[in-house]
Amino acid sequence: MDKKQTFSFWYVLAALLVLLTLQDLLGRQHTETLAYSEFKQALAAGKLDDVLLRDGMAVGRLDVNGLEGVLAPERIAVLRQKGEAHRFATVLVDDPDLVAQLDAAKVRYAGVAESRWLALLFSWVMPVLFFLAVWFFVMKRLSGGLHGGMLEIGKSKARVYMEKETGVSFKDVAGIDEAKEELMEVVEFLQNPDRYRRLGGKIPKGVLIVGAPGTGKTLLAKAVAGEAGVPFLSLSGSEFVEMFVGVGAARVRDLFEQAAAKAPCIVFIDELDALGKARGVSALGGGNDEREQTLNQLLVQMDGFDTNRGVIILAATNRPEILDPALLRAGRFDRHVSIDRPDLNGRRQILEVHARNVTLAPQVDLASIAARTPGFAGADLANLVNEATLRAARHGKDAVDMHDFEEALDRIVAGLEKKNRVMNPTERRFIAYHEAGHAMVAEHREHADRVAKVSIIPRGIAALGYTQQSPTEDRYLLRRSELLDRLDVLLGGRVAEELVFGDVSTGAENDLQRATDIARRMVTHYGMSEALGLATYDTQPRPMFLDGPAPPELRTCSERTAEAIDAEVRQLLDESRARVSATLAAHRPALDALAVLLLEKEVVDRAMLDSLLRSEPASALADAA
Ligand code: ADP
Ligand code: ZN
Repeated sequence: MDKKQTFSFWYVLAALLVLLTLQDLLGRQHTETLAYSEFKQALAAGKLDDVLLRDGMAVGRLDVNGLEGVLAPERIAVLRQKGEAHRFATVLVDDPDLVAQLDAAKVRYAGVAESRWLALLFSWVMPVLFFLAVWFFVMKRLSGGLHGGMLEIGKSKARVYMEKETGVSFKDVAGIDEAKEELMEVVEFLQNPDRYRRLGGKIPKGVLIVGAPGTGKTLLAKAVAGEAGVPFLSLSGSEFVEMFVGVGAARVRDLFEQAAAKAPCIVFIDELDALGKARGVSALGGGNDEREQTLNQLLVQMDGFDTNRGVIILAATNRPEILDPALLRAGRFDRHVSIDRPDLNGRRQILEVHARNVTLAPQVDLASIAARTPGFAGADLANLVNEATLRAARHGKDAVDMHDFEEALDRIVAGLEKKNRVMNPTERRFIAYHEAGHAMVAEHREHADRVAKVSIIPRGIAALGYTQQSPTEDRYLLRRSELLDRLDVLLGGRVAEELVFGDVSTGAENDLQRATDIARRMVTHYGMSEALGLATYDTQPRPMFLDGPAPPELRTCSERTAEAIDAEVRQLLDESRARVSATLAAHRPALDALAVLLLEKEVVDRAMLDSLLRSEPASALADAA
């Protein structure tokens, strides 16, 4: 409807212009333009009549015949060619005697009142209309044309996707059982709010789901709504942040109004990081006002509504570290559920879920496909099944066979390799030994936290694998012996690489940074170095300006002391490395066994580690470092 109106407006404008131009042209065709001198000569010769004076112009009739001798012959020839009407026009000059001469020549003459409306149209109305049209067009573009024009700014209705029934249940979500269990509770809340309310319990407001893209965050949120049988309102964080200050905030308010009307329901905010970035970190100052306002509004709304009405907010992000801390505070997104990429077993289950409605050939072995897809997220696996099915269909097969899967796998792996998301076998071996190294050292250090889980599933962007240690108790003080053990565990990864491959990788960067940091603090802050004694040395950068470049380190020690600190840090690290080397060499069989187990299972938990260590040859245990 809008479109038509704009069109007709342009048509009218174009038609008007064409009309005016035509009129002008037609008029001109039969009109001869005279120089003022020629006009005066013709007037004096009595060859003019019916003169109209207006707008600094004179127009009238001209008798070309009989002008011989008055005008130059070639001018007369030109005038004759022009046509029969013999009309003339001339631009007047400042000539006070003109009227007297017109009188003298007995010419019929008249003045015409200037017609103002055309001038008005061109000098005022048209430009205004033109700018209005341009403005309208630009605004439409900015507000995302398709979703609704200017009038709909601030109404998030066009963008909140509401599903009465998501049709997704927990059985569609596979391989991420821990996350599922945590969200089970949310379903409970929604289904039996009274049970919790009766005892005065507080229902959680917000749950943040953290995980790499495609790991099933949206799917899980939908499954929660599906299981609880409540509507699912979803909206993406990036859609909140608009060009106009205040619009995002209005959207947030609107969203919460809608949610209150639909309660009980689930509100799902995808890409929370797009609007929840930490405030005031912009180096240019000022930051993004619009985003801040939107974020503030979200915080206000979350604080304002009470969960007893049965609205639970789920949000997803793959970059929790950049979120504004205010979002994570109690009463907001204070519950976190993290989803890792699935392990071998998880991948098999996900493949099974997606192959449910696919006719598979009998020889298809999903477990072996799972084994060949380390690093794949749920979405990649769904894609794999789909590609294989499409391939089988293209070839007119009755069932999807292993060959289809292999072809699809090759294609998808090639795509993912470009995005750096799958590892080649050598890399996996490096990572497996690296993590096994951390774990083995942790197991053989009296003061190190016990290993809870070792994994070589890439997590996030930086960490390719991880060894999770669970502290046995809360710690307020750390003893020197404990810090040394921490150093050892951190160096375990790098030393294992050295020991096994005789080569090292870049994978240890973060470990080395953290180890250096600990060693440096031991020397400069904790007085734990014999050589430097009990003095503390401040080498921490101090903020000099609120923003701007980091200031140079502020040293409160002499050049010589600084050198001594460096040497001492270096020595702590070297000694640690020697200790770790000895430990890993002494437990080499167990290290190998753990690495092999990791390559096979990808995730090794406490129980598996225990049984592996139990079967470790006694001789190795005897000469433990
Ligand atoms: P995210 O929101 O984390 O980026 P999605 O939830 O949109 O990922 O996942 C995209 C698709 O991948 C889902 O619709 C589903 O088909 C598939 N998928 C992802 N994870 C799983 C899983 N754990 N189980 C089953 N399917 C999954
Ligand atoms: Zn490491």
